[in-house]
Amino acid sequence: MSGVCKQPIFSLEPDTINCLVVGLIINSNNAKTYESRLSYGTRMRGVWTFTLKDSTEDTINVTIWGTADYVNKIFDKFHIGSVSEMYTPNVSSQLMLSVNQGTAVIQEHDGPDKDHYESLLKIPLKSVTCARSLSSILTNIDQFANQYVDIFVVVTFVSELRNIVTKDGRSLVNRDFECLDGSTQTTLGFKLWEKEWVRRSGLWLPRQTVLFISDALDPAVPQTADVKKAIKTDFEYIPLDPYALPKIENIDNIMKIKDINERLNKKKIPVGGERDQFFTIVYATVTDIDMVNSTRNGVLITRCAMCKRLVLPENDSCMSLDCPSGNGSRRPMNILSLFFKLNLKDETGWLIGCRLTGDAAERALGCTPNEFKEMTLEERDKLKWKLALELCDVRLQVLGPTKTSQSALYNILSLTRLRGDDDYDDNDKTISQTYLNDNHT
Ligand SMILES: [Zn+2]
Repeated sequence: MSGVCKQPIFSLEPDTINCLVVGLIINSNNAKTYESRLSYGTRMRGVWTFTLKDSTEDTINVTIWGTADYVNKIFDKFHIGSVSEMYTPNVSSQLMLSVNQGTAVIQEHDGPDKDHYESLLKIPLKSVTCARSLSSILTNIDQFANQYVDIFVVVTFVSELRNIVTKDGRSLVNRDFECLDGSTQTTLGFKLWEKEWVRRSGLWLPRQTVLFISDALDPAVPQTADVKKAIKTDFEYIPLDPYALPKIENIDNIMKIKDINERLNKKKIPVGGERDQFFTIVYATVTDIDMVNSTRNGVLITRCAMCKRLVLPENDSCMSLDCPSGNGSRRPMNILSLFFKLNLKDETGWLIGCRLTGDAAERALGCTPNEFKEMTLEERDKLKWKLALELCDVRLQVLGPTKTSQSALYNILSLTRLRGDDDYDDNDKTISQTYLNDNHT
């Protein structure tokens, strides 16, 4: 392109023409699509906004406009941390750069200065000394209402990502995380909705990752060591939201089955308060996984895609009045889901009636509900032997008993056989089968 000159962000003026800007993406919103009315009909258009940084001080917001396909493709290609360059024929605002499909171009930058741009990711735009302590925010919460504040914190909890279907049928992902700075015992919880932050936060480690939440980056400043020292790092932080599940990889507390039972027996049953909940790894053998006979709910259950409630076989929706699918305001959307009960055993005891359902069941068996539905009884029985009597790494959510439900709940979040598929030998099957029958309860 002739006459194009690379320009730093600080020098951009509204009348700059043929300008090329190179920088690092430090923030990214979700790409949005909308229907555009034209004289001959409608067309799906897209828009995506992100923030570009090219020095320790300078940033600019960039908006990409184009067809929905074009914008979604660009959004999937460029992430926080990507060094990119964009050419635009003219700059219309000092504060914002527009990149229009057809006249402007965005592409990856691969020049010798790429490392320089990448290093900007860990340099905060402001000094971390302007961060407020969590205790000052929590004690003066009214004073800070509707205000932006910066905080400098250690991550204490990262949830698994959640897929959500909105009332108008869009599917979204989100993730919760919690943090602490040592000034108070109360952790602060956040929900991330931007896909890029949901993705990035998957890399954050409890008690390790330090965030400067202003530009929400993991900053490379000496103060990170101090804030880490200020919190207890040998402590298991329980999430504020009782429904938030931790990222499976972050569960690191290994327990014997006896320890789990002892912990449950020691705790008093709460009268109305919080149910005891903890997450743990157990190395145990799977016994009594029933794939052939249906239990009361069956091994295949139907759930409402929106509210996730159970859809009874005699109904065609969840029948819930708060749910658009249930109250008839939209067509029901149901999903088939796997639902197994199994027992776990290690050398110290048994856990009876553990639940292996949904995504965890699909991952453990490598089989979707629809594939399972099509299987013959023999095929289902064969599938059982992928797990039955195998020593597994089991990640569990344990929920203690309550006044109304006397028994504890064991939800399996992941179940992985310790022995690889290659080690699997058909001869083992007969031996194991005899063993299982002998031990059947
Ligand atoms: Zn529903």
